[in-house]
Amino acid sequence: MIGERIKRAREAAGFNQRELAKMAGITAMAISKYEREESTPSSGVLLALSKALGVRTEYFFRHTEVELEEVDYREHEKIPLKEEKKVLADVLEQLERWFELEQFLPVPWSVPFKLPKGLPAKINDYDDIEDLATKLRHVWDLGLGAIPELVDVLESKGIKVFITRYDGHKNFNGLTARVNDAPVIVVGKHWPGDRQRFTLAHELGHLVLKGRLSENIDEEMACHRFAGAFLAPKEMVFTLLGNKRSWLEPQELNILKQDWGLSMGGWTYRAFNLGILTKKTFGELWGLFNKNGWKEKEPEPQYPQEKTSQFEQLVFRALAEDIIGESKAAELLGMSVIDLHQYRKMESPNVVRHQ
Ligand SMILES: [Zn+2]
Repeated sequence: MIGERIKRAREAAGFNQRELAKMAGITAMAISKYEREESTPSSGVLLALSKALGVRTEYFFRHTEVELEEVDYREHEKIPLKEEKKVLADVLEQLERWFELEQFLPVPWSVPFKLPKGLPAKINDYDDIEDLATKLRHVWDLGLGAIPELVDVLESKGIKVFITRYDGHKNFNGLTARVNDAPVIVVGKHWPGDRQRFTLAHELGHLVLKGRLSENIDEEMACHRFAGAFLAPKEMVFTLLGNKRSWLEPQELNILKQDWGLSMGGWTYRAFNLGILTKKTFGELWGLFNKNGWKEKEPEPQYPQEKTSQFEQLVFRALAEDIIGESKAAELLGMSVIDLHQYRKMESPNVVRHQ
């Protein structure tokens, strides 16, 4: 039991056995034995391991067993196995804390994910995705305007969203998975906000479009189209850009990006997909993006990053209602009890959290 937990925390932290041994001041052989359950670490060793791994000692005794199912990356974005392990271990750790919290919570506090009825059953053409995205916005009461916090919207619909710090690999944008029938969307921490939002909307596209696409439709392209249409609905794009344009100014695209959280490149694609730009003009504009390196990194200022807030809010709600105590709250939030206490009393806004 403890061995499995040590291994999971080690992989989440991205260490091999030797590296961890060095940090914790023990031998690699000892780590190997703990992980294979051939010996049990003393409490002193557990403390050293918890420090090295950035987890609290309770972590090693946690019983929640969580398994991710149907893990799915964006196509063409295969990441090395070692990186994948880190991402998955990090997500599992965050999920475990979620499930531990949920064990305490009254049922009405959470919303199970349900796709709304009345969405088009079959998508035969990429243009059909426009209406589907608008319809989803409508049933979710999002209107047609910009979505300020996309993570909040997804969380409020019962989707579990995690932001992983292990997104160092350039090919990793995000992934979807399922756990106990709830959809999970994971996005990398270090990307600019507009890129995170596009990934989130793209992954939402996978959830929504599943089973609806006719054979001639490529799922990845469909999800890209969905992401653009969900973040900036067709009607608004026509209002903001006009029906036909001979060129789009980069600064114009930047202003729209800052208002809507859709990248300059995303707006360019919207204009092309909706026939506002001709293929030729789109090609010229995209050439400019290429030449300036904006496909990799768009010009400053970057759009603010997304953050998750539901988990922390629920921890404090449970604390307020005496459903959990400070020690459990601290454990769930990955803080020391002293830090949690100060944070709770609004005395310290910047406590250092493990996560
Ligand atoms: Zn995808």
